[in-house]
Amino acid sequence: MLLTNYHTHCDFCDGAGKPEDYITEAISKGFHALGFSSHAPISFEREWTLSEKSVPDYLQTINSLKREYADRIEVYTGLEIDYLEGISGPSSKKFSTLGLDYTIGSVHMIPVRDSDSFLPIDGAVELLKELLKNTFDGSFEKLSERYFGLIRDMLKNHQFNILGHLDLLKKRNTHNLLFDENALWYRNQVLDTLDVLAETDVILEVNTGGISRKAIDSVYPSPWIISEARKRDIPLMLNADAHVPEHIDYYYSEALAIIKECRYGELYSLSGGKWITREI
Ligand SMILES: [Zn+2]
Ligand SMILES: [Zn+2]
Repeated sequence: MLLTNYHTHCDFCDGAGKPEDYITEAISKGFHALGFSSHAPISFEREWTLSEKSVPDYLQTINSLKREYADRIEVYTGLEIDYLEGISGPSSKKFSTLGLDYTIGSVHMIPVRDSDSFLPIDGAVELLKELLKNTFDGSFEKLSERYFGLIRDMLKNHQFNILGHLDLLKKRNTHNLLFDENALWYRNQVLDTLDVLAETDVILEVNTGGISRKAIDSVYPSPWIISEARKRDIPLMLNADAHVPEHIDYYYSEALAIIKECRYGELYSLSGGKWITREI
């Protein structure tokens, strides 16, 4: 099994540590490949994304490290790109012309009703509650339908390689604070989304970042969703969503056990510049 991680945030966005620190860590852990996926700039300046003006420096830095370390590890240049309804998404021209090795498509932000602003679903719980109140009349079912609807729109209208943390919405739902993940309406929203995903070539990631950041105690997406993805033959990969170098393989052995229990026998990785599958 190849050790790989294609979801990495360094100090170009909201991660801590220079890109080289992550590469050194990956080599010491015997990694085959490491991909960088800084948060792409969004139309309003946010502290967690790359700034528009730092994009060339980011690309140049990762591309030169790729060459420098080529005999020890495969390094890939990617971005985690937000789908911002009506504004931009993973295959918007400003990103598709950057010569990236791969892209992760993610939804972190939901438009606020009667406004041109967005609120995050994975930020402070107060912000999520504000969104729930001001845009969805307190109905988490409506908020969730909107979130998964945005993911389906992104899958239908944009080309990208990896779908980021499919059920990120559960990040602030510890102890079922906001909704019951077993509710039929929630399960149906997820299944509808998997049906759309299955029609594309996009790879679903199992993401351990919610655990390493101590927000939740299991992977994105929940194991029952991984099992449903398997039934639909959806390609799968394992990523850490690391924000510090030591987390590039955080919870990997436990996640691999979960993936096997869900009857997946192989995982996707980017190797030699191509997407390949390898047995777990
Ligand atoms: Zn993300
Ligand atoms: Zn991320």
